[in-house]
Amino acid sequence: MTPDAAPEEPADADRRRAVRPVICYPVQTLPDPRLDQIQPLRAGAAKIAEITVPPREGRCFRASAGDFFRISSVLGPQVGDLNIWSAANPAERFYSGKTRALHGSHLTTGDRLWSVFPDLRPMATITADTLGWYGIDEFGGSVHDVIGTRCDPYTHRLLSGGDYHHCCHSNLTNALAAELGIEPRAAEPLVHDVLNVFMCTGFTRDTGEYFMKASPVRPGDYIEFYAEIDLIGGLSACPGGDCGAEHSSDAAACYPLLVEVFRPAQPPVGRVAPAPNAYRWPGSAASSD
Ligand SMILES: [Zn+2]
Repeated sequence: MTPDAAPEEPADADRRRAVRPVICYPVQTLPDPRLDQIQPLRAGAAKIAEITVPPREGRCFRASAGDFFRISSVLGPQVGDLNIWSAANPAERFYSGKTRALHGSHLTTGDRLWSVFPDLRPMATITADTLGWYGIDEFGGSVHDVIGTRCDPYTHRLLSGGDYHHCCHSNLTNALAAELGIEPRAAEPLVHDVLNVFMCTGFTRDTGEYFMKASPVRPGDYIEFYAEIDLIGGLSACPGGDCGAEHSSDAAACYPLLVEVFRPAQPPVGRVAPAPNAYRWPGSAASSD
């Protein structure tokens, strides 16, 4: 809105602005992630898989319920776009928007990645984050956001007029197509808004615009997850590199990302895999409770 189009303020404008915010979704009633049950298992877990995601490419990996998967920075600062799907039913996929509503704009240890309706259950829980020290910087930026969507060739075309074929959306689509043995066009609708691993983002305070800045990630940093259900993960090493300048081009310095999957010797004691959400529509079969 241009300034001269702004309507006149009412007399009580300041009073209306001073109304205190309330948290939309208080999380005190969410099931506790019970990190105490799972974090101790990590020390004795054996590495069962390792996948290197090349720069400006995407790759899929699998993690069974009870496995840990770690995404690491190697060689240089690099941002990754993460998708996750239920291995049993890839239509059940990560719901970035509801995860944001529940846990806030940026995720860290103890936060969970929730799936879409009607399942709405935790697919994975973050168990470690070496960038957990970052907090919120003076610009309002933080790391591991669920506010961006993923760089994609369509928005790039709208804004620049050009075609770029290694956007994270394209990389995730191609990786999932290869993993499932289907055509990219069939895989594309399953690709979804991401967890922006290692990316540093926020909204400008004066205009509310989405911003990015060079990621604070350095080689050796990692974020680690516990798989609550059987998962397929997809990770794109964003063509924006550390996302300090631009994406959707070959201009930025890009580095690989490492994914490692670890399997504990025993399953956690007393932990039950999360069931699909128990809500039932009126007239449908009664829920179990
Ligand atoms: Zn990207």
